[in-house]
Amino acid sequence: MRAREYLKLIQSLEDFAQSDGSEEGKRILDGLCQLLETGVSPLTEHSQPLVSRSAQSLRLLMERDGFVLPASIYESVQYEYDFDAAVRDRSVSSRVVQKYLRLTNAAGRKIGDWQRSNHFSEDWKVEVDGSREETQIWIGQDAMEDILAISLEGYLVSAGRGKPFTEVYATCFGSMKEERLRQDSGLWYVRHFHVDKILPQIRSKATPASVLPSRKTLEEAHLQVAASVFPHLHYLGDFHTHPYASATGIVRYKLWDLTKADRDYTLENISMMQELGCRDRVMLILALGRGRRVRNKKYVSENVQPFKVGPCVCYLAGYKVLDNGRVSSERIRLHCPSRSL
Ligand SMILES: [Zn+2]
Repeated sequence: MRAREYLKLIQSLEDFAQSDGSEEGKRILDGLCQLLETGVSPLTEHSQPLVSRSAQSLRLLMERDGFVLPASIYESVQYEYDFDAAVRDRSVSSRVVQKYLRLTNAAGRKIGDWQRSNHFSEDWKVEVDGSREETQIWIGQDAMEDILAISLEGYLVSAGRGKPFTEVYATCFGSMKEERLRQDSGLWYVRHFHVDKILPQIRSKATPASVLPSRKTLEEAHLQVAASVFPHLHYLGDFHTHPYASATGIVRYKLWDLTKADRDYTLENISMMQELGCRDRVMLILALGRGRRVRNKKYVSENVQPFKVGPCVCYLAGYKVLDNGRVSSERIRLHCPSRSL
């Protein structure tokens, strides 16, 4: 953190506040506190070009650091985590912290007041939320059977025209439950997602190395079926396969991992999906290839389950989708029904 640059810009804004009349000066100080707490402030659009320029430079500096001060404030207020520990975790300069505390105090406010009174969705906030939760994905028996049936069909039955196999795509429906835990380090959440139903998309466009979901299938067919046949289940996210000629290649290239295309797709489509009332929360990927047995379990983490079905070695991986559309593999445990494996 470039503490000196921060302090210089903060000081110049304080100087503007002092040189201005008391009303406008107070507004500038308030705007400065708001900027330090949230990264957003009317000051960046201030009528005095010198004020707005300093505020914009300060925001840019904060952005470069990943908004460590707002993130620390948010974590301490929202998750009841010790403020000193939060700023220490993110290596926020103590001189900048002192300055922020002094300004907030002088404005007669408490830590986090600006965050409480402003509704905003910034990436740093989503990242803090993501780091404070653990995800448990439970695959139900019926869902597991469907996953295997469509995945093995897509892999073992040629799609013709020189395609030995193709990826397959489906959406997942189920239920969710949230647990709140209070620990010495503050509040934590455990989110359980139960995947109960898998709806394969026949109209998705699949090749051996890609699959393009069909929005029309979701919008015009599957959501209608869901609403009338299983309205008690929520849309939870989607599922697709990563097929490969051999199980050795699956392990060598860790094909259960997310590809750049997987990450980009979710990121680009999160708002379109929300328009349909479908908030993506989980993403499942099944990597599969021919092989005799599951090897190298050391490659596998808690969000990945290896197993053998028919002639195929399979690795099922569970991911979570954050509010900003970023897909994460952290703090996720995947539970598969053992009966079907
Ligand atoms: Zn993929």
